Amino acid sequence: LEYTEGKGWHSGRVVPYQNISLDPAAKVFHYGQTVFEGMKAYRTEDGIKLFRPKKNFERLNKSNARLSIPHLDEELAYEGLIKLLDVDREWVPSAEGTSLYIRPFIIATEPALGVNPSLNYLFMIIMSPVGAYYAEGVNPVKIHVESHFVRAVAGGVGEAKTAGNYAAGLNAQEEAKDRGYSQVLWLDGVHRKYIEEVGSMNVFFKINGVVVTPQLNGSILNGITRNSVITLLKHWDVPVEERRISIDELIEAHRNGQLEEAFGTGTAAVISPIGELSYNDEKYVINEGKTGELSSKIYDTITGIQKGTVEDPFGWLVSLD
Ligand code: PMP
Repeated sequence: LEYTEGKGWHSGRVVPYQNISLDPAAKVFHYGQTVFEGMKAYRTEDGIKLFRPKKNFERLNKSNARLSIPHLDEELAYEGLIKLLDVDREWVPSAEGTSLYIRPFIIATEPALGVNPSLNYLFMIIMSPVGAYYAEGVNPVKIHVESHFVRAVAGGVGEAKTAGNYAAGLNAQEEAKDRGYSQVLWLDGVHRKYIEEVGSMNVFFKINGVVVTPQLNGSILNGITRNSVITLLKHWDVPVEERRISIDELIEAHRNGQLEEAFGTGTAAVISPIGELSYNDEKYVINEGKTGELSSKIYDTITGIQKGTVEDPFGWLVSLD
């Protein structure tokens, strides 16, 4: 789908995967005017399903608004996705835990060096089958709490799904990996103490029976898995709080034996239990480094809903037919 100033979005088409040609002065290269989404299609006994896809297109438009990219008709984008999936539904793999990863994105294509919003854009969807995230059962990850770099501040672009947020996290992520940690947990950019999110996941902590997750504050992504987890917890009458939580509160809870579980949430892994946090050269092992009971229950329920083996009381699954 293309956008041309004065004409709007037009020329939707499905083409074979191929290189695209852009002017070296295309604004996306220089000013990072781009947004994206990540979602999955699942093969169930009852056909191919998408998990809350409208939420992705809604969020894409929120990101668009922040990046001065024109609004994209969500129905039009969704229809494009269905057309693409209809080219060959065999793209959606069937083995346990597998899915088709879908990446819609928009880039600013106008060749102009002036720093102002592009007049032209390209909306594309690419997709690829992906294997099971956990080949041998859900595995806890080790996460490094970043105390030097910050990635986003309220009022910035942290709540948009845009390239710059990810580029801003690469150096810290590489450093963490060198030290044996798989991802970075970001703290807020002002006080440097409130917990934000992991590189590509929102984060939850079970403290003394209450599940706490950072509130949407303008600098973290409004994760669709995050929203689903909160909905599930409320449905189960598990106390859940969306509020500011500082790293000091977390460490204190750990010291008192009250930090029962920690986990990340995101489309890729659904639930990633956190078995260890490192912060300022100290290590904090959580739940003996094992997957917690609640984390397992949430994982089984959401992946079960996605596979069509667990009842879907919320109407999250959308049929392709
Ligand atoms: N935060 C960030 C920065 C992310 O990239 C992602 C992955 N999209 C998430 C959180 C989780 O969002 P979702 O549950 O919608 O995948």
